[in-house]
Amino acid sequence: MQSYRLNDLKITINKQGANRYTKASYPVRYGKFCEIKTPQYLFEFNLCGEIRHIRGLKPDWPHPSEWLKRSDANDWIFYSVGRYHRIFSFLGEYYLPCLSYPSNSPWDYDPFGDFTVHDALAAGSELEEKLRPLITNGVPSKIKDFAGRILGHDTKTLRRRTENLHQIIGGPVSALPPDTRHVDYNVIPLMVADGCLYHCGFCCVKSRRSFQRRSGQNIRRQIKRLQRFYGADLGNYNALFLGNHDALAAGWDSIGPSAVEAYEAFNFEKSNIKNPALFLFGSADSLLNAADKLFAALNQVPFYTYINIGLESADGATLVHINKPLGCHQIKDAFDKMLDINRRYLNIEVTANFLLGDRLAPDHYDTLIEMIRSGLERFYSKGAIYLSPLNNGRNRAAMLGRFVEIKSKSRLPTYLYLIQRL
Ligand code: SF4
Repeated sequence: MQSYRLNDLKITINKQGANRYTKASYPVRYGKFCEIKTPQYLFEFNLCGEIRHIRGLKPDWPHPSEWLKRSDANDWIFYSVGRYHRIFSFLGEYYLPCLSYPSNSPWDYDPFGDFTVHDALAAGSELEEKLRPLITNGVPSKIKDFAGRILGHDTKTLRRRTENLHQIIGGPVSALPPDTRHVDYNVIPLMVADGCLYHCGFCCVKSRRSFQRRSGQNIRRQIKRLQRFYGADLGNYNALFLGNHDALAAGWDSIGPSAVEAYEAFNFEKSNIKNPALFLFGSADSLLNAADKLFAALNQVPFYTYINIGLESADGATLVHINKPLGCHQIKDAFDKMLDINRRYLNIEVTANFLLGDRLAPDHYDTLIEMIRSGLERFYSKGAIYLSPLNNGRNRAAMLGRFVEIKSKSRLPTYLYLIQRL
């Protein structure tokens, strides 16, 4: 760590944050990063010189523990901790992520309409001018290099970098699995397949493509290009998202080599953040069709793996209503298999999504409660149930009330799924 002062700026490079992800109600930073402190703001940058976080330091900032984060998709997210009570029981996290793009949050708070948040974003872009004097002689070389890296990542460049990321993987990721909250959504995306099996009518994140595996050559090319893309900041990642909407359907021949090659290429063993994690989506069919040997092999890869399955409903009429071409027996069989895998494999955690809406039939909720309460003899801490609010909900208070009712009866950890993109 090295610090330098220039007028009212205090610049610190190579700060060491926490080396494993944790759940906290205050801002925790992970891995290695650099920061610039002004009397008004704390700006944090990754090792490539890209802005990562901004936190206001003056009393007019919404809350001293709140901050802004910029994702690799160049989206700003406001981490709100001071506005809502008991947010942890809804999300499993101590903050509410407020997104700068439309999603399915049942809360209305829009910090991006707040002028203090707006000013903070503007101040980030204006920092450039203040940093120019640092790239002259007489400034310690490491500080000068850091200032140069920041100046090389202006707003336009950051936007172009996101386009580059999307070009490498073949397009934006419309939804990350809910389990990626465990790594603060900091995942490297690697596409092993496109499209999905069902094209359900209700779904707002699906692509039009039919399900298709990527070739080994395509996956290897992505890995090489992603390695270059993350560059100096690669050491701050410990998590991989194998996409897209149903990577489990791609089978072990795609999942296994991709996970292992990415682990080595991204040097996760030496990551600044411990406990490497692997995330993928699956479907009822891909889970039911996956053989035991897939899970036995996955249990041996050097990751803790989360597989998130979109089950949506165990009620036949609701499945018809949402245009999901499955019967309730398939949903129940997939749920039973999820429980079985969670009991048998130490390094694999299967989680499931169900819908939450104010216009779904009572049978949807009755069958869900039947499965996650009556079907289990005790509480299990492994294998979360995520309830995904439908974004056509009109009565949000009723939806949240319904969530509390289900959570209080559930014998599995139960949270809301707020969809984030990448
Ligand atoms: S819910 Fe899943 S399977 Fe259905 S259309 Fe959306 S991505 Fe595809």
